[in-house]
Amino acid sequence: MSIRNIFFFNLLLSMACGAPRVLQVSALEPPSFIEIKAVGGAFALKFKGSGSYNSRLEASVNLSDWAPLATFAKSTTTLDYTDASEPDRSSRYYRVVQLTSTNALTGDHLATADGDVVIHPINHATFVMGWKDKVIYCDPVGGASRFTGLPKPTLVLITDIHGDHLDSPTLNAIGAADAEIIAPQAVLSMLSSGLRARTQVLANGAKLEAQGIGVEAVPMYNLTPARLSYHSKGRGNGYVLTMGGKRLYVSGDTEDIPEMRALKNVDAAFLCMNLPYTMTVDQAASAARDFRPGVVYPYHSSGSNLSKFKELVGTDLGIDVRLRKWY
Ligand code: ZN
Repeated sequence: MSIRNIFFFNLLLSMACGAPRVLQVSALEPPSFIEIKAVGGAFALKFKGSGSYNSRLEASVNLSDWAPLATFAKSTTTLDYTDASEPDRSSRYYRVVQLTSTNALTGDHLATADGDVVIHPINHATFVMGWKDKVIYCDPVGGASRFTGLPKPTLVLITDIHGDHLDSPTLNAIGAADAEIIAPQAVLSMLSSGLRARTQVLANGAKLEAQGIGVEAVPMYNLTPARLSYHSKGRGNGYVLTMGGKRLYVSGDTEDIPEMRALKNVDAAFLCMNLPYTMTVDQAASAARDFRPGVVYPYHSSGSNLSKFKELVGTDLGIDVRLRKWY
């Protein structure tokens, strides 16, 4: 994601030993920082974005190399972000920059060897990711209005047959027939012929490359006797995506199966947790502590105590639990 079209930033803040200090003021207009404080191993930032354009929060350890943390939609209200990505840093610099557009995909950035992945939650199990000129829609459901203003999908991933993951009217409305679709066999059987023609079936354990993105289908299923009827092994797919060398795990609807606990080198994980369909926060936290993703996004989590999840994951393993707006 290029930051060429940034035309100003106005405050540069330094966190040294937890004491915020204004280093530079170079413009009088928004965006601007309001507050920055150390919270545990993280830095909590509050800032005013731009009311006219998107804003981007960036961090640096040396004042010359800046890494985007997140892109925000234009807003006149206070924005906030908690940066727990470098818990061991005693010094870190932040700036918030105004972009010259309103159409940059908003969300957290995950840097890869070949451009950032931008992560844009929509609702429940549904989210969008941008990487270079590729746009990945995961389990798009809920009607086209949820995706208003977003770029069209180039790749659509579907995990399972249930209505919170598969919705043919939504697929048609968002232009999935012009994209590539990846889905398990059980989903293929439920698609219209037009969508089926665009779909590649992946079974658990199979992998392919689409648009430069490595896609591996991994199992998702229930383990608890009372929940076995929800997701039988082999029907649905979780996915491990590889983009620019970074690995992102989309759990789909599953419990803390051994295949999840055995995952290696996951940079970001989308982890489901809700009863009765998937797992408890205890199961999810225990599994996360086993496979140790760099970042965890609890998703598909309605009714779950996410503060408890975050507490159970803890900070000792360096797992960055990110609670975002999914509902
Ligand atoms: Zn579900």
